[in-house]
Amino acid sequence: MRKKIAAGNWKMNLDLTQAQTLVSELVQMLEDEYNGSAEVVLAPSYPFLYPIHHLIKSYSRFYLASQNMYQKESGAYTGECSPMMLKSAGVTHCIIGHSERRQYFGENHEQLLAKVSLCIKSGIIPIYCVGETLSERESERTFEVISDQLVHSVFPIEGEDFSKIILAYEPVWAIGTGKTASPAQAQAVHAYIRQLIRTKYGEEIAENTSILYGGSVNAANAADLFSQPDIDGGLVGGASLKSREFTEIVKALP
Ligand code: PEP
Repeated sequence: MRKKIAAGNWKMNLDLTQAQTLVSELVQMLEDEYNGSAEVVLAPSYPFLYPIHHLIKSYSRFYLASQNMYQKESGAYTGECSPMMLKSAGVTHCIIGHSERRQYFGENHEQLLAKVSLCIKSGIIPIYCVGETLSERESERTFEVISDQLVHSVFPIEGEDFSKIILAYEPVWAIGTGKTASPAQAQAVHAYIRQLIRTKYGEEIAENTSILYGGSVNAANAADLFSQPDIDGGLVGGASLKSREFTEIVKALP
């Protein structure tokens, strides 16, 4: 059965004290108020990974994600972090292919495939993001763009390894804009993604792949989005920086 997941992408926000306060509040609220099965994945910036690992390690629903990694195991790559380094700091998941990394850091299909592959080899679960821009949606290229992002960067991976990947559909026009895809719009793309997986890897892997929706998810819209049959949770940016808001988002999952 596929997992329900709420992942918080903090991006380049918060200082260490703020990050620790947020996590302490979140842990307390969810311990007190939530009995469901969802996994909660937190993605702070690199310097906060290890301290946050210490705050969450004794709570089984919490997992730690990095927002990026480098596609080499070690070496002279000043300023970069390898998956082995991240794993040794408590990281279990890694966001790969976020649209901000594609847009501002020029990450391309080939690099992203290398990242996803090394991530899996290192025992870290990739959360691989796909999504179309507004102009791509308006020119009716959404499915083509999503298919390209999957075909080039994750479908070369063989079935057993592919089954370790979490996918996130994040329409670029909905990220940080306050414009959310309607539940029907999101469901249509999620169903399309699941169908591509079914065609490539078969029914069992398609049914077991968690596909998260991301793009201005908040406490008010989460339940409607998460009630769609092919939406298995959320990848949440802005609203994951507020403990009460993010708690309500997690509580929208069964
Ligand atoms: C994100 O950064 O992955 C995201 C979905 O951001 P927001 O929720 O702020 O739109």
